[in-house]
Amino acid sequence: MSRTNDLLKIRDLLQRRRRDILSATLGAQRELTALKDQDRDPEYEENAQAELADYTLSSLMEAQRREVMMIDAALRRMDTGVFGSCVDCGYDIPIERLEALPFAIRCEEDATRHELELRGGPQATPTL
Ligand SMILES: [Zn+2]
Repeated sequence: MSRTNDLLKIRDLLQRRRRDILSATLGAQRELTALKDQDRDPEYEENAQAELADYTLSSLMEAQRREVMMIDAALRRMDTGVFGSCVDCGYDIPIERLEALPFAIRCEEDATRHELELRGGPQATPTL
């Protein structure tokens, strides 16, 4: 298969994934609304459980929102024809890497270097 076909296949996967996430987000949204509706529960324990579920759903939705943003960015890169090219060296990122990491914007070598710079650089900020 040609690289163009491989890229189209990845685009297809990303679009399908985007649809799946959006419908999952809708489901989570509905659950969250249902939880908010039973706010007045007098049982403290159940409230605590609802709060935990609320928190879990909220962070799930936050993760989904972030993934949709990454998918949109990848689709935009496809539209402008820069998807699959390393932002550092400009060479094609191997298709195997893109299939495993469709959001990759660097070849493996540059990604490793970039990570090291982020972690070891003088302005390195501690990560949680
Ligand atoms: Zn590179």
